[in-house]
Amino acid sequence: MAHLCDTIIIGGGPAGLSAGLYAARSRMDVLIIERAKYGGQATTTDELENYPGSEVNCTGTSLSERMRKQAEEFGCKFEKDEIIDVQLEGDVKVIKGKKDTYETKTVIIATGANPKLSGFKNELELRGKGISYCATCDADFFTDLDVAVIGGGDSAITEAIYLTKFAEHVTVIHRRDALRAAKSLQEKAFANPKMSFIWDSLVDEAIGDEILEGLVVRNKFTNETSVLKVDGCFVFVGYDPISALFEDKVTLDKAKYIITDDDMRTNVPGVFAAGDIRKKSLRQVITAAADGAIASTIAEHYIEEGK
Ligand code: NAP
Repeated sequence: MAHLCDTIIIGGGPAGLSAGLYAARSRMDVLIIERAKYGGQATTTDELENYPGSEVNCTGTSLSERMRKQAEEFGCKFEKDEIIDVQLEGDVKVIKGKKDTYETKTVIIATGANPKLSGFKNELELRGKGISYCATCDADFFTDLDVAVIGGGDSAITEAIYLTKFAEHVTVIHRRDALRAAKSLQEKAFANPKMSFIWDSLVDEAIGDEILEGLVVRNKFTNETSVLKVDGCFVFVGYDPISALFEDKVTLDKAKYIITDDDMRTNVPGVFAAGDIRKKSLRQVITAAADGAIASTIAEHYIEEGK
């Protein structure tokens, strides 16, 4: 029979790691299962300048590694596995992975979200051949070259500013005439001499056979198209929640984010959700970490009091 954990956390991003820390500090028998690398989306961010207390050069990767170590030091266990099925009803929840099957009294779902595709022609064909979804991972390849960034949110503008440290020039292509990103980021971006903007425009197609050579950009209002010659294109048009495994098992909203109450409870007793996977208004490392802390604390109460 499988060992029965107090809580299993699915996902090792900031929400999962924080949940792991709080659970371990409460002396719960806690296991974090992660399929890829710890830190999740945060590891694709170069500088977490809005995380309270973060110092200069606090990268997503370094902060995540500190979070992981801290949880481990308090007794949190870790397993690398990809979960393929979950049985969430009843007092013993069964979590089935590719490597092993796990049993637990409570579950904290912290699976996060994946970058969305923009949807232009050849996007998938040229992915990894000039088209990227992670500036921290790939910026270096574009040293002294011209790149485009698609999107106008916090991710697009943060990463566009970061890319100017490497690229010769960064052109932001946005579908409206105003950015969605935080005003402080906008100020930085507009003041950056290596950045320019193409407004009210969409990318219809990526040009290039083996490697990206340019983008066909179309003005939304005039329908006029032009070719922007670039060596790289970074797409930051939002995220899709990683919730397919939980459809029909917990309540999701229309966009497939998991619905919880303020204490991170889903509609299934003993099942909690934390971080970007959750329906919420602000998806940041700080809110993910806060969700994780709440989820573990309430999971502990659930085990002790059965509610
Ligand atoms: P987001 O806020 O949803 O912004 C997505 C951007 O992409 C928007 O500007 C949107 O245009 C545009 N867009 C969407 N679909 C598109 C398409 N098919 N083609 C072209 N453009 C498209 O996503 P995000 O910037 O990734 O941020 C996600 C969450 O993480 C947010 O809550 C954000 O605050 C947070 N975040 C925070 C930070 C930070 O604080 N430093 C950094 C990264 C992310 P419209 O504006 O017209 O909708």
